Amino acid sequence: MTHEIEALQNAADKSSRDLGGPRQPLLTVRNLLKHFPLKGELFQFDKSKRSVVRAVDDINFDILKGETLGVVGESGCGKSTTARVLMQLIEQDSGELIFDGETVGSRALPLREFRRQTQMVFQDSYSSLNPRMTIEDSIAFGPIVHGVSSRIAITRARDLLSRVGLQPERFAGRYPHELSGGQRQRVNIARALALEPRLVILDEAVSALDKSVEAQVLNLLQELKQEFGLTYLFISHDLNVVRFVSDRVLVMYLGQVVEIGLSAQVFDHPKHPYTHALLQSMPSMDPTQRTTVAPLSGDPPNPINPPGGCRFHTRCVYAETICSQRAPAFAVDDAGHGVACLRHEPDSGYRAASELPPTLKVSHV
Ligand code: SF4
Repeated sequence: MTHEIEALQNAADKSSRDLGGPRQPLLTVRNLLKHFPLKGELFQFDKSKRSVVRAVDDINFDILKGETLGVVGESGCGKSTTARVLMQLIEQDSGELIFDGETVGSRALPLREFRRQTQMVFQDSYSSLNPRMTIEDSIAFGPIVHGVSSRIAITRARDLLSRVGLQPERFAGRYPHELSGGQRQRVNIARALALEPRLVILDEAVSALDKSVEAQVLNLLQELKQEFGLTYLFISHDLNVVRFVSDRVLVMYLGQVVEIGLSAQVFDHPKHPYTHALLQSMPSMDPTQRTTVAPLSGDPPNPINPPGGCRFHTRCVYAETICSQRAPAFAVDDAGHGVACLRHEPDSGYRAASELPPTLKVSHV
């Protein structure tokens, strides 16, 4: 595992140079593990005998200051659980979060302060807002809880409303049900910014919006990132959107990180067969680029009892016997592109790796 952490640090260091200069990690995730016991198993006193869903299984990565790190993977791969653990909405079983050099939950960085500096925007814009509070009060609520005077908090709420494109005189006194989905998501973004965070986690934040509204909100997020010096963790199942917004991309499969790299590296030259299959499933507007190969077969295996060796071997078209016997280590190339696949591991026993076929060229949103 130490080797994997070093490899990931190398990946982050090398990628940061390509992002316009050395960048320090804002959030460092080390050996993060979150398992959920199955119903009825909580009373099994011997923890080693409990059946658990391995939602997040010992993952490591860095989020660099000022970047947008996209996270992709199929449903159930652990994206949203990772986001909730990073926000400390649920507690990890083990592992460490280091925010700007300080351990989260330590005396130097208590949870309350970490939660102020890290905010989240959820997919469901309606259930994220209190239906009994006006928009203005919803935005001002967080700062007031953190000790800001209500007069200053309300003034700031109105400024933020106007910054996200909603006129305060029209919208401040409205209730969530009086707004459209796009307007509500703008309110949620304003509410996330009210506490002046440094890291914003966007968990499928634009997935429920119409395409035209989605594009507007994405552009707004880009503008706000520049204006407020934010760092984003952008989780989405929409690969086109992830490609549009992300500086780097992290790919998850069955609770583990299988590939990480600059957006261009991952999208144009994927190394992991799973990433390649995901990209092949991206819809293309160009009829000449349509794939005839079924990109991925079957459902992901049961996360309660994941396959041994490489977890992807039950679906991988490149799998060999060694793949079911040995879990791949994380390897990073000179350009900072990291992958966990025996094809890319020297001396792993896998036969000489052949190149993956080229991925579809897809247009940006
Ligand atoms: Fe496929 Fe083997 Fe690589 Fe796993 S280690 S992704 S099974 S080639």
